[in-house]
Amino acid sequence: MLATACVPATTFASTNWITPAEAAHFRTTPSYADTLTYLQRLQKAAPGKIHLETFGTTPEGRPMTVVIASGDGTFTPQAARAAHKAVVLVQAGIHPGEIAGKDAGLMLLRDFAITGKYPHLLDHVVLVYIPVFSVDGHANSSPYNRINQNGPASMGFRGQSQYLNLNRDYIKADAPEMRAWLKLWQTWQPNFLVDVHATDGADYQYDLTWYTEDPHKLDPAVASWQQQLTDTVMPAYDKRGHLASIYLEFKDGRDPRKGIANFGSGPRFSTGYAALQNRPALLIETHMLKPYGVRVKAVYDLVELMLADINRDPAALLAATHKADADVIARADNPAARVPLTFKLDPVPTSYTLKGYAFSQTHSDISNDIWIRYDPHTPRNYTIQNWNRLLPDLSITPPAAYVVPAQWTVIIDRLKAHGIAYRRIDHPLTMTAQGYQLDDPRWATRSFEGHLMLRDFTLATAPRTVTLAPGSVIVPMDQRAANVAIELLEPQAPDSLLHWGYLNAIFEAKEYGEPRVLEKLAREMIAKNPALKAEFEKKLHDDPAFAASSRARLEFFYKRSPWYTVQRVGAYPVLRLNAAELRQLPVSLPSSGRGPG
Ligand SMILES: [Zn+2]
Repeated sequence: MLATACVPATTFASTNWITPAEAAHFRTTPSYADTLTYLQRLQKAAPGKIHLETFGTTPEGRPMTVVIASGDGTFTPQAARAAHKAVVLVQAGIHPGEIAGKDAGLMLLRDFAITGKYPHLLDHVVLVYIPVFSVDGHANSSPYNRINQNGPASMGFRGQSQYLNLNRDYIKADAPEMRAWLKLWQTWQPNFLVDVHATDGADYQYDLTWYTEDPHKLDPAVASWQQQLTDTVMPAYDKRGHLASIYLEFKDGRDPRKGIANFGSGPRFSTGYAALQNRPALLIETHMLKPYGVRVKAVYDLVELMLADINRDPAALLAATHKADADVIARADNPAARVPLTFKLDPVPTSYTLKGYAFSQTHSDISNDIWIRYDPHTPRNYTIQNWNRLLPDLSITPPAAYVVPAQWTVIIDRLKAHGIAYRRIDHPLTMTAQGYQLDDPRWATRSFEGHLMLRDFTLATAPRTVTLAPGSVIVPMDQRAANVAIELLEPQAPDSLLHWGYLNAIFEAKEYGEPRVLEKLAREMIAKNPALKAEFEKKLHDDPAFAASSRARLEFFYKRSPWYTVQRVGAYPVLRLNAAELRQLPVSLPSSGRGPG
């Protein structure tokens, strides 16, 4: 059965505590100012349980508010750690048009702190709650911001004020809001992350779908804790009258019978980033077409049940995340360790019963494609194939440490933003280490999140001798956030800074040869090296496009001359040190490298 109660059956100690969305019968959602006013009232009425802080400022100058909630006034990470409490970060409004998490959060905090409905919910858990992550996007409210969605009357805009989608920004960290979030994350080091959204896409019976990262992306301890959580909570959730499913990414939006597949996620997303930080995470997607009150209640119940479950046994979560951190640190001592960078769908599907709706498919003369129309009055089950499991695809052997030359401030800035431990060298240092030579770059042809991403390149490893300027950094891998550093710095990682286009300039030759000069150079090179002439003639024979380009014919020689190679076009600036090379460095490593920090 679907949840049908639009007004939750909350027992109010006083109707004064009705939230703005409840008061409006979920036709509207409150402004940020009204949201903060309500939260401030809660703090004033229950100062020992609710505490508000500002953790950042948006590009338009608005304060970013976080609520700390705890049964006994544990409001700092130090106190939480000392008391062995689990820290759970719940965030709403990273996409502020998908705002049920905000209104559910206000109700749940009230029912924890004021009404006595769940007074013991946070005895052993500290809840860190962001009511609205994208505050500027939330202020940019309009009835027209989400064409696919059924209310509330007006809703926020998907991009923040600089038109960045915060749920693609976790690794590249361009937005000031994301920089603030990363600081909050490092301060609290939450044990579990919950990120609340609403879907787009297909219509079906479920009022909520959820996603956790594939076990192959997680430490086994974290994967198994996460599995246990959903195994325990989801049946209890159904008993409350909800109908939930794993995240539904249809292979073909025109025909749900063709099956579902894992959407892939990745470190640019909240749950993918948490995985790199050795943490379990849950993506909640309420269904866009269910009435707004149903969506709010769907989040309210799921978050309450999750918190209650963690509150019963915080030690299990703490043990899992502690082990995951320790495992990443210990991996640095294992030269045979491999780290997967990319994942592919397991080609073997499982079977899945989709609780969908009857639908029709007609040919459209507008799109010249199939037009699918659902009939939400006719529930229907479909047995479909489910390609939900992932397998590691491309893997690398991590180095003992990375070296980032001082001039690559854009890289060092990101390492710092992610709280990665490193040591700066304070004198020039000449070293030989493993580098990457990158060639044949190809870029995307349109902008994505303000970047022309590097799509493709060839890669070869090559030893390189460099003289590092003072201020260059050594990044050891025996640290708990090593996987974040690997994602940033390994060229082939899908969200590497290279892929995001921050290093595009390395592919630009800054000098060129005039044809009149290259004519002479070519003849000199052939005279010295007859084999080169054979190679040239073979290429003329095998490659008609080459043969047709006088420029390419001359550059064949230029690119093989010291005039070109001196420019080191495609030399990836980040180097990799093995354990022996790292030990020989006359640099002491970060003291925080060995422990959680
Ligand atoms: Zn979303």
